[in-house]
Amino acid sequence: MLKWQKNTKIIMESFSKEIYKAIYPDLTFERILTLRSLILERKDLFLDYNFYYENREELIVRSLTHAAAFSRFVQEYDLNASEQEYLSSFYPEMSVVTSIGYFKDSLYFLASNTQLSFYKHLIDTFQIIGSYSQSEIGGGSDLRKIETEAIYDPTKKVFIINSPTITSSKFWIGGLGLSTNYTIIIAKLIINEVDYGPHPFLVQIRNLRSHKPLSGENLGEIGPKMGLTSSDYGFSRYEFLSTPKSSLLDRFWQVDDEGNYRKTFEPMQMLNITHTIARVRTVKTFWVPLAYALTIALKYSYFREQFPSPTDPNKETKIIEYQIQQYKLFPALSRLYCMIFATQHIVGLMENCIDKLKKLDDSLFTEIYCLSSLYKAFVTTRVVEDIEMCRRSCGGHGYMMLSGLAVLYNNSLPACTYAGDNTVITVEMIKNLIMNKPEKIWNMIMMHNYSEGPIRWIYELTKSLLRKLDKKYQELKSRGLRNEEIWREKIQVEACALMEPLFLSVAYPYIKLTIENSPYFKELKILEDIFIACELKRHEANLRLLGISDNEWDFYQSKCLDHFKTLAENSLFYIEAFMIPEEALNSVLAKSNPYEEMLWTSKLLNPINSSKIHKKLGHNFRPKL
Ligand SMILES: Cc1cc2nc3c(=O)[nH]c(=O)nc-3n(C[C@H](O)[C@H](O)[C@H](O)COP(=O)(O)OP(=O)(O)OC[C@H]3O[C@@H](n4cnc5c(N)ncnc54)[C@H](O)[C@@H]3O)c2cc1C
Repeated sequence: MLKWQKNTKIIMESFSKEIYKAIYPDLTFERILTLRSLILERKDLFLDYNFYYENREELIVRSLTHAAAFSRFVQEYDLNASEQEYLSSFYPEMSVVTSIGYFKDSLYFLASNTQLSFYKHLIDTFQIIGSYSQSEIGGGSDLRKIETEAIYDPTKKVFIINSPTITSSKFWIGGLGLSTNYTIIIAKLIINEVDYGPHPFLVQIRNLRSHKPLSGENLGEIGPKMGLTSSDYGFSRYEFLSTPKSSLLDRFWQVDDEGNYRKTFEPMQMLNITHTIARVRTVKTFWVPLAYALTIALKYSYFREQFPSPTDPNKETKIIEYQIQQYKLFPALSRLYCMIFATQHIVGLMENCIDKLKKLDDSLFTEIYCLSSLYKAFVTTRVVEDIEMCRRSCGGHGYMMLSGLAVLYNNSLPACTYAGDNTVITVEMIKNLIMNKPEKIWNMIMMHNYSEGPIRWIYELTKSLLRKLDKKYQELKSRGLRNEEIWREKIQVEACALMEPLFLSVAYPYIKLTIENSPYFKELKILEDIFIACELKRHEANLRLLGISDNEWDFYQSKCLDHFKTLAENSLFYIEAFMIPEEALNSVLAKSNPYEEMLWTSKLLNPINSSKIHKKLGHNFRPKL
């Protein structure tokens, strides 16, 4: 077994190589190391402690300055998409880059080749900075509810974009408030008073030179949020804004000059694919906040001491030695690895699906639609829970902004909502599964061949929950209830309960394959055992009903706790292999001397301490009698 304390740089590097091979299979490890050292030379591109004291305007300016520097860096070194993605992992706060990512993914999918040949260079050189405007203040989850209109005028060959109601105002649009000069507006296409439903239009919203909004006071920033404080989010309303006919992104549908419409695929289906792409992007990049939080929490847990050691009363116990501290952090660490190992499969499937759709083959649509929702719901829900656990495991100091954990938590939280609210997409996905029984996923569960080991019980649980739900659905149907009623009022709770076991059943073969093929099989198998045992624990009541014996249960759980002992000696090794630099962590708790760091920052950086008696508050503190 590897020992962190004794490891050589070479062992650490080859372990890191394994991790990065799973995250970025198309980047060599040498390239990753080169990019890392290039970015580490650019101290101006990292946040510092002042970040925690800045007000909203200062934060936004800082974030945009970083985004501009980032884009220059990308151009200077001519970085490809994976390289850019790796670099953005050093900027957990710069979400304007994420918004641009969602915009680019959607455009590259929805625009025809002719449109792309015009826009691609402008986008790659950051002359066009775009956002994706779907959500309206009156509704975000239901695409069918979009009210914004795009009315075709054949005499002028333009679309007139209009927000007919208050509820049709676009809201929550990443980057639209300040940064972007183009946006993809999802609006109902109307030709000769016929409504063809939601379609995407690429529309200029700011002057490319002066950056002045083209629609005046109807475009702005939505205001303070729980997190993502450095990022601008926009609202917009359109009053008969005229945009050329070429604004309609027309890979899958076209309108000719006279206003005749034809389509190859259903627009709703293709717009759902843009969400699917966004979900896969979210899943792919969500290792970052958890790896950051675990690096902070584990480093601090090896540093912090509480209560005398049972063997030597003169020595204090490191908090990592407590079993329950390990129980807070090690399952999250094992989940981080297993989620990374499961992700590559869905990224590959997504790329494959896009290639096929561009060749007008939609055979992978249902599979990727279901799996992207399943992965996104599981990964975002659990990462957010795990970051909060990291914060708690750092006690009071974890609650300081300077721990870095609050920002990680608050910025990760909305991923449970954007790119499809987790509940809504889970219900939709299970509905699809029960009603269409897509062969590949259905058979994978119903005909699984795991007859032993703890994972067998996960499959048994998924199978039994799916069967029960299917039976209930068929009964409700036979009583004459409509699908809408059933899926809205009768079985949503059971559908959501299926999400976790279903994810595990679908993802497990890919986790297993990666671990089995790794030269670090022994080290990674420990993580797999912990991951599965802890997931079983979440479903203990159901598994007992399914018949898992006391002996078997105790065996898996005590094996997991035994692994904790090994991991307690090595867990820093497992997390340091992610090579997250202190500059990016920006946390007092991740330093080798957290107490000194906390004291000097409180004393010198905190503006409240800038004078002995605060000039504005002093009179409140004087004795009142
Ligand atoms: C940080 C952030 C960034 C965003 N960025 C963008 C962006 O760039 N572009 C963009 O277009 N949008 C963006 N959004 C909007 C986002 O996509 C929507 O907020 C999201 O789709 C959820 O929709 P909603 O807000 O209308 O929630 P609602 O649908 O109103 O959900 C509210 C509650 O109702 C429940 N609910 C709703 N429908 C159902 C149902 N059928 N069954 C069961 N429960 C249901 C939900 O689960 C939830 O609990 C962003 C949002 C956030 C928070």
